[in-house]
Amino acid sequence: MSKQILVTGGTGYIGSHTVVELQKSGFEVVIADNLSNSKAEVVDSIKEITGIEPQFEKTDLSIKDQSDALFNKYKKIEAVIHFAAYKAVGESVERPLEYYNNNINSLINILSNMREHNITNMVFSSSCTVYGQPDKLPVTEKTPRKEAESPYGNTKAICEDIMRDFCKANTNIKCIALRYFNPIGAHESALIGELPVGVPNNLVPFITQTAAGIRKELSIFGDDYNTPDGTAIRDYINVTDLSRAHVVSIDRLIKNRNKNNYEYFNVGTGNGLSVMELVKTFIKVTGVKLPYKIVERREGDIEKIWADTSYANKELGWEATKTTEETLLSAWKWEKKIRSL
Ligand code: UDP
Repeated sequence: MSKQILVTGGTGYIGSHTVVELQKSGFEVVIADNLSNSKAEVVDSIKEITGIEPQFEKTDLSIKDQSDALFNKYKKIEAVIHFAAYKAVGESVERPLEYYNNNINSLINILSNMREHNITNMVFSSSCTVYGQPDKLPVTEKTPRKEAESPYGNTKAICEDIMRDFCKANTNIKCIALRYFNPIGAHESALIGELPVGVPNNLVPFITQTAAGIRKELSIFGDDYNTPDGTAIRDYINVTDLSRAHVVSIDRLIKNRNKNNYEYFNVGTGNGLSVMELVKTFIKVTGVKLPYKIVERREGDIEKIWADTSYANKELGWEATKTTEETLLSAWKWEKKIRSL
């Protein structure tokens, strides 16, 4: 009998790609999403890719009654992958209470339901934002966390601490936090991808929308950083590669291969790329025109970060496989598809 995985936020960007990879690996998926930042049609697109329709529940897990009802309904859940969260850094500065309420209460409700129903495996979406601007690069899992720059970042640090403490008190429960670097790209089928609401905050959706003629020009935030070309450096990871890291983490937990009952891993490529390098690669591989200008630095941005992925590579038996070129092409293919270009 296939094992059932609850994927919260499963119609979102990383969630939907992970549902596809889980189904491909033989897992049965239940998606719970409140659709606050995604569309129910994503469920149909997932079915188009894999031939299997995931079960779907419109649920707000930050509300205790709704979380209770979900766990009372689905009795075969073996593991939870918890993506559902608000994620806009700037908005979190404007609306801190909404961010703390949503991101923290949903984790607390899920963990308490897991304990109640004896569900022992959890994979959580964390972020490299917990490292702030590290003193030494690349960052390993031993690199100390720094105080968060935003309420959003703080919710990730607090959620990690909640899982650590919960696992200490409940030794039968196992949690893995995956610290994502910068996920980009779309599924190779172009049936699912990132769907930002309004003006995108993130670099790649802004690039593809500019290339599609929806935005006039890309603003590059700062060229006076202490980096080789002066623009900021990030570790951009293909969303399908990132999704596979969740599947191997679930496998590790279900097979009891974890070393501690709370673990955390860096999920990146190990390569740092500057904004300018990314822009030039996009222009080269797509051949499209991309108007851009250099503007002031964006407040709260760090200068550079990239992952040391050796611990994740060794422990999870996982590594990023896709090139930046193919990943940017997948993002462009997706943008063209949704704009009917
Ligand atoms: N960036 C940019 N122009 C944009 C959006 C982002 O120059 O319109 C830069 C941003 O300053 C950062 C990098 O691209 O150096 C990645 O930004 P993103 O918001 O995608 O991710 P972050 O690492 O900030 O979470």
